Amino acid sequence: MTDDTPPPLPDHDWPDFPPGLVWLVGAGPGDPGLMTLQGLHALRLADVIVHDALVNPRILDWRQADATVEYAGKRGGKPSAKQRDISLRLIELARAGKRVLRLKGGDPFVFGRGGEEAQALVQAGVPIRLTPGISAGIGGLAYAGIPVTHRDVNQAVTFVTGHDQSGLTPSALDWQALAKGSPVIVIYMAMKHLAQITGELLVAGRDGAEPVAIVSNATLPQMRVLETTLARATEDAAAHGMEAPAIVCLGRVVALRQVIDWMGQLGGAPVRCLDPLGTGDPRQVS
Ligand code: SAH
Repeated sequence: MTDDTPPPLPDHDWPDFPPGLVWLVGAGPGDPGLMTLQGLHALRLADVIVHDALVNPRILDWRQADATVEYAGKRGGKPSAKQRDISLRLIELARAGKRVLRLKGGDPFVFGRGGEEAQALVQAGVPIRLTPGISAGIGGLAYAGIPVTHRDVNQAVTFVTGHDQSGLTPSALDWQALAKGSPVIVIYMAMKHLAQITGELLVAGRDGAEPVAIVSNATLPQMRVLETTLARATEDAAAHGMEAPAIVCLGRVVALRQVIDWMGQLGGAPVRCLDPLGTGDPRQVS
Protein backbone atom coordinates (compact mmCIF):
# COMPACT_ATOMS: atom_id res chain seq x y z
CA MET A 1 0.00 0.00 0.00
CA THR A 2 2.33 2.65 -1.27
CA ASP A 3 -0.29 5.39 -0.70
CA ASP A 4 0.08 4.78 3.04
CA THR A 5 3.85 5.06 3.01
CA PRO A 6 4.77 8.05 5.15
CA PRO A 7 7.21 10.60 3.74
CA PRO A 8 10.81 9.85 4.62
CA LEU A 9 12.42 11.57 7.58
CA PRO A 10 15.10 14.15 6.74
CA ASP A 11 18.41 12.62 5.76
CA HIS A 12 20.39 11.83 8.90
CA ASP A 13 22.54 9.08 10.31
CA TRP A 14 19.60 7.46 12.14
CA PRO A 15 20.48 4.62 14.53
CA ASP A 16 19.77 1.03 13.44
CA PHE A 17 16.88 -0.90 14.91
CA PRO A 18 18.00 -4.53 14.72
CA PRO A 19 15.59 -7.39 15.57
CA GLY A 20 15.83 -8.36 19.24
CA LEU A 21 16.49 -4.83 20.47
CA VAL A 22 14.17 -2.94 22.82
CA TRP A 23 14.10 0.78 22.14
CA LEU A 24 12.76 2.86 25.01
CA VAL A 25 11.29 6.06 23.65
CA GLY A 26 9.83 9.08 25.38
CA ALA A 27 6.60 10.14 23.68
CA GLY A 28 6.56 13.56 25.34
CA PRO A 29 3.76 14.99 27.46
CA GLY A 30 0.87 14.63 25.01
CA ASP A 31 1.00 16.79 21.88
CA PRO A 32 2.29 14.29 19.29
CA GLY A 33 4.48 17.00 17.77
CA LEU A 34 6.58 16.94 20.93
CA MET A 35 7.99 13.48 20.30
CA THR A 36 11.54 13.58 18.97
CA LEU A 37 12.45 12.79 15.38
CA GLN A 38 14.54 9.89 16.65
CA GLY A 39 11.47 8.53 18.43
CA LEU A 40 9.49 8.80 15.20
CA HIS A 41 12.26 7.03 13.32
CA ALA A 42 12.11 4.15 15.82
CA LEU A 43 8.31 4.06 15.68
CA ARG A 44 8.36 3.65 11.94
CA LEU A 45 10.64 0.63 12.14
CA ALA A 46 9.15 -1.17 15.15
CA ASP A 47 7.43 -4.56 14.81
CA VAL A 48 5.67 -4.19 18.14
CA ILE A 49 4.91 -1.17 20.26
CA VAL A 50 4.29 -1.56 23.99
CA HIS A 51 2.86 1.69 25.33
CA ASP A 52 1.65 3.29 28.55
CA ALA A 53 -1.67 4.95 29.38
CA LEU A 54 -0.29 8.46 29.04
CA VAL A 55 0.93 8.02 25.46
CA ASN A 56 -1.30 9.93 23.04
CA PRO A 57 -2.90 7.24 20.80
CA ARG A 58 -2.49 9.55 17.81
CA ILE A 59 1.24 8.89 17.96
CA LEU A 60 0.54 5.21 17.38
CA ASP A 61 -0.99 6.08 14.00
CA TRP A 62 2.56 6.80 12.80
CA ARG A 63 3.64 3.16 13.15
CA GLN A 64 4.19 0.96 10.14
CA ALA A 65 1.00 -0.66 8.86
CA ASP A 66 1.67 -4.19 10.12
CA ALA A 67 3.16 -3.28 13.52
CA THR A 68 1.25 -4.60 16.51
CA VAL A 69 0.35 -2.52 19.55
CA GLU A 70 0.21 -3.70 23.16
CA TYR A 71 -1.06 -1.66 26.07
CA ALA A 72 0.91 -1.97 29.28
CA GLY A 73 -0.33 0.95 31.27
CA LYS A 74 -1.33 1.56 34.82
CA ARG A 75 -4.28 3.75 35.71
CA GLY A 76 -5.02 5.62 38.92
CA GLY A 77 -2.46 3.69 40.93
CA LYS A 78 -4.24 0.41 40.14
CA PRO A 79 -1.72 -1.60 38.22
CA SER A 80 -3.38 -3.13 35.18
CA ALA A 81 -0.06 -4.77 34.42
CA LYS A 82 2.59 -5.41 37.05
CA GLN A 83 5.97 -3.86 36.40
CA ARG A 84 7.65 -7.25 36.47
CA ASP A 85 5.18 -8.60 33.90
CA ILE A 86 5.87 -5.67 31.59
CA SER A 87 9.62 -6.23 31.79
CA LEU A 88 9.16 -9.97 31.20
CA ARG A 89 6.94 -9.28 28.20
CA LEU A 90 9.55 -6.93 26.70
CA ILE A 91 12.22 -9.61 27.19
CA GLU A 92 9.98 -12.24 25.60
CA LEU A 93 9.24 -10.10 22.55
CA ALA A 94 12.92 -9.24 22.09
CA ARG A 95 13.91 -12.89 22.35
CA ALA A 96 11.31 -13.70 19.70
CA GLY A 97 13.35 -11.48 17.37
CA LYS A 98 11.01 -8.50 17.30
CA ARG A 99 12.03 -4.89 17.03
CA VAL A 100 10.36 -3.76 20.24
CA LEU A 101 9.47 -0.15 20.87
CA ARG A 102 8.68 0.67 24.49
CA LEU A 103 6.82 3.96 24.28
CA LYS A 104 6.43 5.88 27.51
CA GLY A 105 4.84 9.23 28.35
CA GLY A 106 7.15 12.19 28.82
CA ASP A 107 10.71 11.05 29.39
CA PRO A 108 11.19 7.33 30.15
CA PHE A 109 13.67 8.03 32.96
CA VAL A 110 11.64 10.67 34.79
CA PHE A 111 9.21 9.05 37.27
CA GLY A 112 8.38 6.59 34.53
CA ARG A 113 9.97 3.32 35.65
CA GLY A 114 12.06 3.38 32.50
CA GLY A 115 15.10 2.86 34.67
CA GLU A 116 13.62 -0.32 36.12
CA GLU A 117 12.76 -1.65 32.67
CA ALA A 118 16.19 -0.79 31.31
CA GLN A 119 17.80 -2.60 34.26
CA ALA A 120 15.69 -5.72 33.77
CA LEU A 121 16.42 -5.81 30.04
CA VAL A 122 20.16 -5.32 30.41
CA GLN A 123 20.28 -7.95 33.16
CA ALA A 124 18.47 -10.35 30.82
CA GLY A 125 21.08 -9.70 28.14
CA VAL A 126 18.64 -7.86 25.85
CA PRO A 127 20.22 -4.93 23.98
CA ILE A 128 18.49 -1.60 24.48
CA ARG A 129 18.56 1.90 23.11
CA LEU A 130 17.02 4.95 24.71
CA THR A 131 15.53 8.09 23.23
CA PRO A 132 14.68 10.73 25.82
CA GLY A 133 11.44 12.69 25.72
CA ILE A 134 10.13 16.02 26.89
CA SER A 135 9.04 15.58 30.47
CA ALA A 136 5.67 16.95 31.59
CA GLY A 137 7.31 18.82 34.47
CA ILE A 138 9.25 20.96 32.01
CA GLY A 139 7.37 20.88 28.69
CA GLY A 140 3.92 20.81 30.25
CA LEU A 141 4.68 23.89 32.29
CA ALA A 142 6.16 25.58 29.22
CA TYR A 143 2.81 25.17 27.44
CA ALA A 144 1.21 26.92 30.41
CA GLY A 145 3.63 29.83 30.02
CA ILE A 146 5.68 28.89 33.09
CA PRO A 147 9.46 28.69 32.74
CA VAL A 148 10.83 26.21 35.32
CA THR A 149 13.80 28.50 35.82
CA HIS A 150 14.15 32.24 35.40
CA ARG A 151 17.24 34.22 36.35
CA ASP A 152 15.26 36.67 38.47
CA VAL A 153 13.54 33.93 40.45
CA ASN A 154 15.36 30.63 40.93
CA GLN A 155 18.72 29.04 40.50
CA ALA A 156 17.37 25.61 41.31
CA VAL A 157 14.28 23.53 40.71
CA THR A 158 13.28 20.29 42.40
CA PHE A 159 11.19 17.56 40.79
CA VAL A 160 9.16 15.52 43.25
CA THR A 161 6.74 12.62 42.97
CA GLY A 162 3.53 12.72 44.96
CA HIS A 163 3.44 8.93 45.37
CA ASP A 164 6.00 6.39 46.37
CA GLN A 165 5.90 2.70 45.43
CA SER A 166 3.14 2.01 47.94
CA GLY A 167 0.99 4.77 46.43
CA LEU A 168 1.37 6.92 49.55
CA THR A 169 3.00 10.34 49.86
CA PRO A 170 6.71 9.63 49.77
CA SER A 171 7.85 9.28 53.37
CA ALA A 172 11.49 9.39 52.30
CA LEU A 173 11.12 13.04 51.26
CA ASP A 174 12.50 15.61 53.65
CA TRP A 175 9.76 18.23 53.29
CA GLN A 176 11.54 20.64 55.63
CA ALA A 177 14.68 20.57 53.52
CA LEU A 178 12.67 20.85 50.31
CA ALA A 179 10.62 23.75 51.58
CA LYS A 180 13.74 25.56 52.70
CA GLY A 181 16.11 24.71 49.88
CA SER A 182 14.09 24.71 46.69
CA PRO A 183 12.59 27.96 45.40
CA VAL A 184 10.58 26.08 42.79
CA ILE A 185 9.08 22.65 43.40
CA VAL A 186 7.48 20.71 40.54
CA ILE A 187 5.33 17.80 41.67
CA TYR A 188 4.31 14.86 39.47
CA MET A 189 1.39 12.61 40.47
CA ALA A 190 0.33 15.14 43.08
CA MET A 191 -3.45 15.17 42.76
CA LYS A 192 -4.33 12.18 44.93
CA HIS A 193 -2.43 13.51 47.92
CA LEU A 194 -2.62 17.22 47.18
CA ALA A 195 -3.98 18.15 50.62
CA GLN A 196 -1.24 16.23 52.37
CA ILE A 197 1.53 17.57 50.12
CA THR A 198 0.48 21.20 50.43
CA GLY A 199 -0.01 20.65 54.17
CA GLU A 200 3.54 19.29 54.53
CA LEU A 201 4.95 22.30 52.69
CA LEU A 202 2.96 24.76 54.82
CA VAL A 203 4.04 23.07 58.05
CA ALA A 204 7.61 23.14 56.75
CA GLY A 205 7.36 26.92 56.51
CA ARG A 206 6.37 27.74 52.94
CA ASP A 207 4.26 30.87 52.61
CA GLY A 208 0.57 30.11 52.05
CA ALA A 209 0.34 33.03 49.60
CA GLU A 210 3.04 31.57 47.34
CA PRO A 211 1.74 31.01 43.81
CA VAL A 212 0.85 27.51 42.64
CA ALA A 213 -0.14 26.38 39.17
CA ILE A 214 -1.88 23.10 38.44
CA VAL A 215 -1.65 22.12 34.80
CA SER A 216 -3.80 19.17 33.72
CA ASN A 217 -3.59 17.42 30.36
CA ALA A 218 -0.71 19.71 29.51
CA THR A 219 0.01 20.23 25.80
CA LEU A 220 -3.28 18.55 24.79
CA PRO A 221 -6.38 20.36 23.47
CA GLN A 222 -8.10 19.72 26.82
CA MET A 223 -5.27 21.32 28.79
CA ARG A 224 -6.40 23.37 31.78
CA VAL A 225 -4.40 25.60 34.06
CA LEU A 226 -5.40 26.65 37.52
CA GLU A 227 -3.49 29.43 39.19
CA THR A 228 -3.92 29.49 42.92
CA THR A 229 -1.84 29.67 46.07
CA LEU A 230 -0.29 27.08 48.33
CA ALA A 231 -2.91 27.66 51.02
CA ARG A 232 -5.84 27.43 48.60
CA ALA A 233 -4.59 24.84 46.13
CA THR A 234 -6.54 21.83 47.40
CA GLU A 235 -9.83 23.67 47.75
CA ASP A 236 -9.50 25.44 44.39
CA ALA A 237 -8.46 22.26 42.61
CA ALA A 238 -11.59 20.53 43.89
CA ALA A 239 -13.81 23.53 43.09
CA HIS A 240 -12.53 23.62 39.51
CA GLY A 241 -12.52 19.85 38.99
CA MET A 242 -8.80 19.62 38.28
CA GLU A 243 -7.92 16.03 37.53
CA ALA A 244 -4.92 13.87 36.77
CA PRO A 245 -2.74 13.79 34.82
CA ALA A 246 -1.58 17.07 36.25
CA ILE A 247 1.63 18.81 37.15
CA VAL A 248 1.74 21.03 40.21
CA CYS A 249 4.28 23.85 40.31
CA LEU A 250 5.00 25.86 43.44
CA GLY A 251 7.09 28.99 43.27
CA ARG A 252 7.35 32.53 41.99
CA VAL A 253 7.95 31.35 38.41
CA VAL A 254 4.20 30.72 38.31
CA ALA A 255 3.57 34.47 38.43
CA LEU A 256 5.50 34.90 35.16
CA ARG A 257 2.55 33.27 33.48
CA GLN A 258 0.71 36.58 33.81
CA VAL A 259 3.04 37.82 31.06
CA ILE A 260 4.17 34.68 29.23
CA ASP A 261 0.87 32.78 28.80
CA TRP A 262 1.57 32.46 25.09
CA MET A 263 -1.07 29.83 24.53
CA GLY A 264 -3.82 31.94 26.07
CA GLN A 265 -2.62 34.87 23.97
CA LEU A 266 -2.90 32.75 20.83
CA GLY A 267 -6.46 31.87 21.83
CA GLY A 268 -5.40 28.32 22.63
CA ALA A 269 -6.43 25.85 25.29
CA PRO A 270 -9.10 26.97 27.72
CA VAL A 271 -7.54 28.29 30.85
CA ARG A 272 -8.88 28.90 34.28
CA CYS A 273 -6.98 31.44 36.20
CA LEU A 274 -7.37 32.37 39.84
CA ASP A 275 -5.67 35.39 41.26
CA PRO A 276 -2.32 33.98 42.40
CA LEU A 277 -2.03 36.57 45.14
CA GLY A 278 -4.98 34.98 46.87
CA THR A 279 -7.12 38.10 47.10
CA GLY A 280 -10.14 35.86 46.86
CA ASP A 281 -11.07 37.35 43.52
CA PRO A 282 -11.05 34.49 41.04
CA ARG A 283 -11.11 35.45 37.42
CA GLN A 284 -11.66 33.10 34.59
CA VAL A 285 -10.09 33.46 31.21
CA SER A 286 -11.00 31.25 28.34
N1 SAH B 1 7.72 10.04 32.50
C1 SAH B 1 6.68 11.04 32.60
C2 SAH B 1 6.07 11.09 33.98
C3 SAH B 1 5.32 9.81 34.33
S1 SAH B 1 4.55 9.91 35.89
C4 SAH B 1 7.29 12.42 32.21
O1 SAH B 1 8.49 12.53 32.09
O2 SAH B 1 6.52 13.35 32.02
C5 SAH B 1 2.93 10.41 35.46
C6 SAH B 1 2.70 11.85 35.89
O3 SAH B 1 3.30 12.73 34.95
C7 SAH B 1 1.26 12.26 35.94
O4 SAH B 1 0.62 11.85 37.12
C8 SAH B 1 1.40 13.76 35.87
O5 SAH B 1 1.82 14.28 37.11
C9 SAH B 1 2.54 13.91 34.89
N2 SAH B 1 2.05 14.07 33.52
C10 SAH B 1 2.30 13.30 32.47
N3 SAH B 1 1.72 13.78 31.36
C11 SAH B 1 1.08 14.90 31.73
C12 SAH B 1 0.30 15.87 31.05
N4 SAH B 1 0.04 15.79 29.75
N5 SAH B 1 -0.19 16.91 31.77
C13 SAH B 1 0.07 17.05 33.07
N6 SAH B 1 0.79 16.16 33.77
C14 SAH B 1 1.30 15.10 33.10
